[in-house]
Amino acid sequence: MSESTEPSLSNLSREERRFEPPADLVASANVTEQVYAEAESDRLAFWESAAQRLSWGTRWDRVLDWDDAPFGKWFVGGELNASYNCVDRHVEAGNGGKVAFHWVGEPEDDTRTITYSDLKDEVCRAANALTDLGVSTGDRVAIYMPMIPETVVSMLACARIGAIHTVVFGGFSADALANRIEDCDATLVITADGGYRRGAPSALKPAVDDAVGRSPGIQNVLVVRRTGQDIAWGDKDVWWHDVVDKASSEHTPENFDAEHPLYVMYTSGTTGKPKGILHTTGGYLVQSAWTHWAVFDLKPETDVFWCSADIGWVTGHSYIVYGPLANGCTSILYEGTPDTPHRGRWWEIVQQYGVTIFYTAPTAIRACMKWGKDIPEQFDLSSLRVLGSVGESINPEAYVWYRDAIGGGTAPVMDTWWQTETGAHMISPLPGVTAGKPGSAMQGLPGIVVDVVDDTGASVPDGSGGYLVVREPWPAMLRTLWGDDQRYKDTYWSRFPGMYFAGDGAKKDEDGDIWLLGRVDDVMNVSGHRLSTTEIESALVSHPKVAEAAVVGAKDESSGQAVVAFVILREDAGDGGPDVVAELRQHVTKEIGAIAKPKSIMVVPELPKTRSGKIMRRLLQDVAENREVGDATTLADTSVMDQIKSGLSSGKADED
Ligand code: ATP
Ligand code: MG
Repeated sequence: MSESTEPSLSNLSREERRFEPPADLVASANVTEQVYAEAESDRLAFWESAAQRLSWGTRWDRVLDWDDAPFGKWFVGGELNASYNCVDRHVEAGNGGKVAFHWVGEPEDDTRTITYSDLKDEVCRAANALTDLGVSTGDRVAIYMPMIPETVVSMLACARIGAIHTVVFGGFSADALANRIEDCDATLVITADGGYRRGAPSALKPAVDDAVGRSPGIQNVLVVRRTGQDIAWGDKDVWWHDVVDKASSEHTPENFDAEHPLYVMYTSGTTGKPKGILHTTGGYLVQSAWTHWAVFDLKPETDVFWCSADIGWVTGHSYIVYGPLANGCTSILYEGTPDTPHRGRWWEIVQQYGVTIFYTAPTAIRACMKWGKDIPEQFDLSSLRVLGSVGESINPEAYVWYRDAIGGGTAPVMDTWWQTETGAHMISPLPGVTAGKPGSAMQGLPGIVVDVVDDTGASVPDGSGGYLVVREPWPAMLRTLWGDDQRYKDTYWSRFPGMYFAGDGAKKDEDGDIWLLGRVDDVMNVSGHRLSTTEIESALVSHPKVAEAAVVGAKDESSGQAVVAFVILREDAGDGGPDVVAELRQHVTKEIGAIAKPKSIMVVPELPKTRSGKIMRRLLQDVAENREVGDATTLADTSVMDQIKSGLSSGKADED
């Protein structure tokens, strides 16, 4: 196939639906259309004005230093303390009585209300306790916790004393924890005896004991008592209630350089071994605070914000902890899963706390879609005014379902594209500006310069697909991969000189709006056409019997690769009926064309997903090509692959 004549990625689907922003939202919107023009005329001045949202100990003297690209510095010479910005300044402004978190535990009636004053006292105590345990500026602290307030407190206490936190998702194994401890040389682990998961206490401490046994650099393990379950106790272990509760609630935060490291976060590992992404203080906080305020049209006085992600993912860092707290708003923090003790739990919480802004992942929306809309219908969700989505492309069908069943047919859906690496939102509609198109993340945010390019790095025309890149540095960008500058350059900056390559495919539609098309590693080559996974999956999900779909390319003698699809049916579709496979193949042909028609379709009970809910297509490709299934260590549920393989041998797939 010649690169000059074939597009880098085919543009298959069309979507005619448009949703204008609600009139009342437009009338009071935080951000108006003209901000795009302002940012375009002077990008650095725009970010400089966004930086005024924070309190700085020392003002910067240069907005951006890109002389040593791709190693950037933002707000050069500026000094600030992230914890002061997230907590103290709100108390000083007289908002100490305001609720920072309505924490909802998984067991019913297990709740805590944490005001900004409470949070300040607890963060100060924890900062003093960490210092007493010998943690100092620049040290690394691993945090392996359930979704409890002490997790947020631990992160802020680290930030307060300039220690670098690395939060490891509490569902990960001892191996994963040990690898991350080793990779960043942590000296302290903060954990809990356990957390609640699907109605039962689930232990954390044994995994920590195992990991710490292999990590001689760990000096202490600080343990929160959450469940009260029996745990082994070693000489490095210290109870949180013994050292934090007894520490002083007075602590003076020191200002750190804007480029002082704030945290290391490992990517979710959808494509392979996780990478240790380094974020620093000033630029990260500016962009997470600004985007949280702009993209969700946050009114800190009245909104109740809920991001359902786990704090162990970057979404939890930027949109449970740093963005919302820097903006001084009230958030929900929920420990459990959406279906415990019943499938309406999320909506019950929305109703109870009057949640106004809700931010979740497409995989969760599709699960709710599969369960049916009569579940959310049992609750009053009229408080919701803005909805958000992150993690994967949201299929048009799931978007419209979300808007209707959860958003009452009026709440706009913000499809936010970003990555662990980008630190904060990069591409998204704005709720008071954008007429949304279901399935499109729309435009780069003000101050963010994204583009779609072809194999040679040239910008593709509207109506074409290619590689998503970022053309200019942005404040919350990763600074490097922890301990590996060379891998940082090779991974992100070598494919297209002078551009950050994100690894994702995308297209520009006729209006120049951006549609994410999945990872370029997953692009299929069918009879010389480069097809993305997203459009075919969306076509499948638009069939009324389908809740979720994953598509991969499998080796094929006649076409190079053949499209192989795996689908989960909606509950009200039962087993789909005898002709479901033929129906779905026909449906894809009708929606986007014969070239995309799956050669085989398999109805499965579950799809392999990472712990953050992303579909791991490379494992499905192994199944489709009859190979031994590859590295599945970041998989949420390892039995899923066995279920899929046994279904395959029982002959549900259709071949022609
Ligand atoms: P790894 O890089 O280790 O394989 P990962 O890419 O899954 O892991 P994250 O940083 O959590 O780790 O995910 C970022 C990726 O998620 C993006 O590159 C993109 O593929 C996908 N993504 C996130 N938001 C969106 C969105 N709104 N639309 C489409 N894709 C999205
Ligand atoms: Mg990635």
